[in-house]
Parts: sequence; structure tokens; C-alpha cells
Amino acid sequence: MYDIKKMSSAELKTLLAELGEPAFRAAQIRRWLLRGVKHFEDMTDLPAALREKLAARCSLSVLEEAARSVSADGTQKFLWRLSDGETVESVVMRYEHGNTVCISTQVGCRMGCAFCASTRGGLKRNLEPFEMYDEVLRSGEASGLKISNIVLMGIGEPLENFDHVMAFFALLGEPEGLNIGMRHISLSTCGPEGGIERLAEQNLQLTLSVSLHAPYDELRSRLMPVNRRSGGVQELVRRCEEYRKKTGRRISYEYLLADGVNDSDADAEALAALIGRGDAHVNLIPLNRVEGAMLSPAPRARVESFKKTLERRGVNVTVRRRMGADIDAACGQLRQRNKQSEQPPKKDQ
Ligand code: SAH
Repeated sequence: MYDIKKMSSAELKTLLAELGEPAFRAAQIRRWLLRGVKHFEDMTDLPAALREKLAARCSLSVLEEAARSVSADGTQKFLWRLSDGETVESVVMRYEHGNTVCISTQVGCRMGCAFCASTRGGLKRNLEPFEMYDEVLRSGEASGLKISNIVLMGIGEPLENFDHVMAFFALLGEPEGLNIGMRHISLSTCGPEGGIERLAEQNLQLTLSVSLHAPYDELRSRLMPVNRRSGGVQELVRRCEEYRKKTGRRISYEYLLADGVNDSDADAEALAALIGRGDAHVNLIPLNRVEGAMLSPAPRARVESFKKTLERRGVNVTVRRRMGADIDAACGQLRQRNKQSEQPPKKDQ
């Protein structure tokens, strides 16, 4: 059966015509979907006979809460089971400027970054627009918190699922639904070929974060294989400057600090030289330890020294507050752990 959430308005109207129903029912159904209705029978302003007909013809996918963990700092992490049994995660964080949900955009990821749990096992599939929408909606419901900001920093590379992400933004802006505008959205990307350019064409008022993590090609290619396919760090920064020119929006570079890998003062100097000229912003991320990855977080004093070096060079820099470290809140960790626990236990465990 075809999921009603995957239908365009035109498809829905065609279906209604086949069922001998007026076209205005499409808007009613749409409103229910945007509110997160779980069963056709709950669409109470539709005639009962239509609700039955719809249930016989279509499925209605719902995210099921498969696991939840709550951190001492109030961060809540959800693992959602999708209708095909795959899982993705979302994290709700409480900040002074409002509650933020970090959502996944793909099931798995094919980018292969050395430090990231999401990419183990590769890419399974893209998320559908309504699946991303439901991550936001259900995270709000399940946490009991009003969500005001969204970051696309969970599992997956959003620019590799471009069309669905754009359709998801359109759903978010619908007044009948969550009604969250572009200025409340951040999209994080590792910069796959062509992605930033396509996004620039949309000219959206969102915040673009670019995962840089290294100021030299040799190191970035080792940590992030996408670097080899997308022209290297100089080219990445040039593409970001183009984006800035086209959209008028300031870029935020993410730079995670791994002990002895990319955290020296010389690395900070190289980073400043690379991005120095523009008005970009650097967000330093203390590495979250991921099982099996040979990287450990930079010591506190290193983070401070790295930050000071950037500041001396006139770079805008902040250090991201660590949230939910006690609940494996880094990308893909909950999904990874859940997959492991579904396997038969090994002898030595
Ligand atoms: N694919 C996108 C968005 C998902 S990752 C991207 O690459 O930006 C979101 C952010 O978390 C990225 O900056 C990513 O590099 C970072 N990240 C992944 N694993 C991490 C870890 N173990 N510790 C700290 N940050 C991590």
C-alpha cells in the first residue's frame, strides 16, 4: 500500500476523485498529516466512509519511539523506528534561546568520516520529507517541549538528500503545521560536490554550517574522504565565499578537536589563514568519543589555546557546549548501539 504521506497534493486529489470525493478533502487530509495524526479514523472532519476507504487504499506511516535516553543536562535523545523497520535518531537540547532539535536526514550515511558513528554500515536510504517533519513533531510531543529551532546535524548528509530536504523545509513553513521559518533552521554539510552551489540557488535564509575539521588537504582527506572528491579545502572555502556572496548569509565552519590530530597552534594558524579574510564564524567542537575510532578529544587547555590563536588572528570563534555526552548524543551513536544490542551477544560480553 502506498503511504499517504508520500503523495503530492496532485496525487491526493487524483485519489479523491477516484473515490468520488471533492478536491477540498485534500486540504483537510493535509492538515491532519501536518498535525501528526496517527490513524485515518482520527481524521474526524472526514466522513466515516471516506476514512475507511482511505485506510483500505493507503498506509499512514508513523514514527515509533524505539528508545529514549535522557542526559543529566536535560538533553533527550530519541531513536525512531520507521515504517520499514529502519531507525534514525533525533536529539532535543535546551538552550536559553529556545529548544532545539537535531534531526537525521538519511538512514545511515555514505560519507565515511573517520570520527563519525553514523557512517558505519554505509547509507541505507534517504529520509522522506514527512519522516523528517515527523522527527521534529514527535520530538516536541515526546519531550513535552516546544521546539523553536531545528538543526540538520543528525545522521546523514542533507545535501545528498537535496530534494527531500527542500520539500521538508516547505512542510515546516506551512501555517497549518509547525510553522517554523528558515531563520530557525541550520543545515550542516561536509560539502559534497555541487551541494553548496545548489543550495545557494535556493537563496534560503537558513544558517549554513560547513564541517571543515582540518586546514590541510592531506589531513582532511584522511578524516573525511569527501574531501578528495570535492576539490580540497581551498576550493571548499572558495565555494563557501560564493555562497556568502549569493545569499548574504554568514557561513559557520565546524571544527572538531581531536587530541594530537588537528589541535595544535600551528593548525589554528593554518585555519585562520585559510578562512581569515571573510566574516565567517568558527565553532569548535570537542570530539565525542566513538567506539572503535582511534581518536580522542583534545584536552581542555588545548581547546582554549586553539581558540585564543584564532582570536588573535581576528577569527570569530565559539566553543560548542558539550551536551548529552553521557547519553551517547554524538551522531549515530544510539542507532549504532541499538543495532549492536539487536545482534546475538558475543562470548566475551
Ligand atoms: N553530514 C553533515 C551533518 C551531520 S554531522 C556534516 O558532515 O556536517 C554533524 C556534525 O557532527 C558534523 O560537523 C560532524 O563532523 C560532527 N561529528 C560527527 N561525529 C562527531 C564526533 N564523534 N564528535 C564530534 N562531532 C562529530
